[in-house]
Amino acid sequence: MSVLEIRDLHVTVETEAGETPILNGMTLTIKTGQTHAIMGPNGSGKSTLAYTIAGHPKYTVTSGSITLDGEDVLEMSVDERARAGLFLAMQYPVEIPGVTVTNFLRTAKSAIDGEAPSLRAWTKDVKQAMSNLRMDPKFAQRNVNEGFSGGEKKRHEILQLELLQPKIAVLDETDSGLDVDALKIVSEGVNRAKEATDLGVLLITHYTRILRYIRPDHVHVVVGGRIVEEGGPELADRLEDEGYDRYLAPADGAV
Ligand code: ADP
Ligand code: MG
Ligand code: MG
Repeated sequence: MSVLEIRDLHVTVETEAGETPILNGMTLTIKTGQTHAIMGPNGSGKSTLAYTIAGHPKYTVTSGSITLDGEDVLEMSVDERARAGLFLAMQYPVEIPGVTVTNFLRTAKSAIDGEAPSLRAWTKDVKQAMSNLRMDPKFAQRNVNEGFSGGEKKRHEILQLELLQPKIAVLDETDSGLDVDALKIVSEGVNRAKEATDLGVLLITHYTRILRYIRPDHVHVVVGGRIVEEGGPELADRLEDEGYDRYLAPADGAV
């Protein structure tokens, strides 16, 4: 079992106005085999949490910690985080000219495992994973992210997840821009990875829609850069009915 522990995390981002605090004491523990949903209104700091776990240079941790099985994640380079077993979907959002999907995936797999997978087995695995996600085999020969549609980007993300077999995956707005059919296919991919490898998932989303297909065991509501409420799947159901208004417009006399 692996554990990702986020403790009292404070994060600032550099803006024209200087260093602006975005996360104000975020505490969260994710174990392999668990699915946690982070939900909240726009601008509450959800993506900032994902970028901070990913090691994006724009985000500065001013206090608090992130550890994976006791190892200091904040001291790790982006590559080291991947090798340690963290999957951060937004890690490679850029176009990589001249690098095909299949070569990119094999390079990533080799970097994580410390050795290249046998070409034969690898080709078979990629084919299988692509067929699971109902992707056109031609997709493997496209250049990474070059002209990918929103839906193709998301499927490529889940293809990586299935093939790289991380311990903990952070998925930020994986549901955005997907129609219902694509959402189901992508969700099935995440659920397959959960079953096959006991993956831990940190599923970040504004909307409850994806949670019908990927059921979280824990739901955390983030407002103003900190968790304001936690519960089980029933909390997601309540948010679907009520939205975030109750967190944003407290009644008179409330804190
Ligand atoms: P969410 O994902 O919950 O919508 P974000 O983490 O993207 O929220 O943003 C939280 C707040 O931090 C917003 O006010 C946003 O404008 C600000 N912010 C986040 N990243 C940056 C950035 N790179 N530059 C400037 N402001 C940022
Ligand atoms: Mg946003
Ligand atoms: Mg966001």
